[in-house]
Amino acid sequence: MRVAVVKSAAAMLAVVAAMGLAGCGDTGGSSSDGKVQAVASFYPLYEATRAVGGELVDVTNLTAAGVEPHDVELTSRQVDAIEDADVVLYLGHGFQPAVEKAGKRAKTAVDLLATDGLTLLSAPEGHDEEQGKGHEAGEGEDPHVWLDPSRMIRVVERIRTVLAEEDPANAGTYAANAKAFTDRLRALDADFRSGLGSCQRRRIVTSHAAFTYLADRYDLRQEAIAGLAPESEPNPRRLAELTDQVKADGTTTIFYETLVSPRVAEALAREARVTTAVLNPLEGLTTEEVAAGESYESVMRRNLQALRSALGCN
Ligand SMILES: [Zn+2]
Repeated sequence: MRVAVVKSAAAMLAVVAAMGLAGCGDTGGSSSDGKVQAVASFYPLYEATRAVGGELVDVTNLTAAGVEPHDVELTSRQVDAIEDADVVLYLGHGFQPAVEKAGKRAKTAVDLLATDGLTLLSAPEGHDEEQGKGHEAGEGEDPHVWLDPSRMIRVVERIRTVLAEEDPANAGTYAANAKAFTDRLRALDADFRSGLGSCQRRRIVTSHAAFTYLADRYDLRQEAIAGLAPESEPNPRRLAELTDQVKADGTTTIFYETLVSPRVAEALAREARVTTAVLNPLEGLTTEEVAAGESYESVMRRNLQALRSALGCN
């Protein structure tokens, strides 16, 4: 008799547990596992959405590891994923036109450049032969906001709002996750401020014009070899001008990137007899970086070290 009671109690618990699970399933997005289905257009948005979403959100990155995200092309499966997703997060202003286009057919697509309190800067004057023809030349505003941790905090806050609207039952969890992530970004911002506060030089020569916001935040001057898009070819006059400037200023380092060929940066460094180093625009991680567990923060901290060493900071 006693055994029978225990058994039926256990059966009852099992039923309650099953109901509980079903209840959880209903609070999320439309997927079968009950999680919100999010699509992020490239790495920094992917990492931020994963950080804010935690266990509650499945995030797909549209730009594969090792791929340069400017002008990324989408497979038909990715277009389907965009259409099926609960939320699509991207940066507008012509950074990834294929995503903007496919996003029009998504349930919810959010251009994170249109975030309140995110001050956008105009694109620096182009130095490429493509100037005037390039997709970004006419857009006017620079999309590379993620390279300034203080602007990245605004983006993370917007992602939190979007997920909380999609899944209000879990708004508290998204807020807590977002706070943990933005606290780290605040510490990173403080370290950049102090690390770049007192330097012998303030001019940085970069491959493409990705660091406008970082330069704006920490009072550096960016000279980009190419324009806003890394694949654009610089013109010979621009290279000659930069070579003279590097020599005159005592610039020690030409920065190149991990996802594009360092050929032009190396040629300039040879011509001006200076060294090269990586300054990572975090447009994506390489497969090696993913395997090594690299993140936005770890790459940004390495960027800080590279800047401090190139600029002679105390
Ligand atoms: Zn870029």
